[in-house]
Amino acid sequence: MAPDAAAHEEGHHRNVQSGGARAAVFGISDGLVTNVSLILGVAGAHPAGTFVRLTGLAGLVAGAFSMAAGEYVSMQAQRELFQRELEVEAQALRQSPVAEHEELVIIYERRGLEPALARELADRMMRDPATALETHAREELGIDPQSLGSPVLAAISSFAMFAVGALLPLLPWLVSRGNGALVASVIVGAVAALAVGTTLGALTGRSIARSAVRQLAVAALAAAVTYGIGRAVGATA
Ligand SMILES: [Zn+2]
Repeated sequence: MAPDAAAHEEGHHRNVQSGGARAAVFGISDGLVTNVSLILGVAGAHPAGTFVRLTGLAGLVAGAFSMAAGEYVSMQAQRELFQRELEVEAQALRQSPVAEHEELVIIYERRGLEPALARELADRMMRDPATALETHAREELGIDPQSLGSPVLAAISSFAMFAVGALLPLLPWLVSRGNGALVASVIVGAVAALAVGTTLGALTGRSIARSAVRQLAVAALAAAVTYGIGRAVGATA
């Protein structure tokens, strides 16, 4: 039981770390692509500083709230679903402990344990009700009750990451305006997109150059489209 628990802890830890880092980079990427294209769309129509700055700020706040709300709602729903499944499992353990015991023996046998060993392991896991529930949740539902995650923390982190990404292309417009700010915004956006792509490439173990170029291409395409729309539609105010 000890090596199994240790391996589980380690795997869990690793997942949380790389998963969290990846989620952070994706959040920054969302904010970056959204606001680069929003800012360039408005700048394409009318590069006067005040409109672009207001649009960029509104895009930052609106996008960050939207990401936070989406993250909160989806994690909360997932938690509720898990909790309901856990209650069903807890009830089954109370009402038919023998059947649940046999179920665990069969699961361990299917995993390749000798029948006697499978029974012994199941005996031990079923001895303590809390351990029994945790074991059944993990083996049958693929849930670790200890790591359901906090919807509020996830929402705050989504908000912050999107805001960081959205702030980057907005920075030049906070201190400047006109074509100078436009060029600076494009440069900052491109450098940030390359950095995001590089980080994602490193995190996923894929080709860093390809990942960086792909990220830049996606951001450039989105920005080019909205800039084109801005130029074509224009602003008559
Ligand atoms: Zn069960």
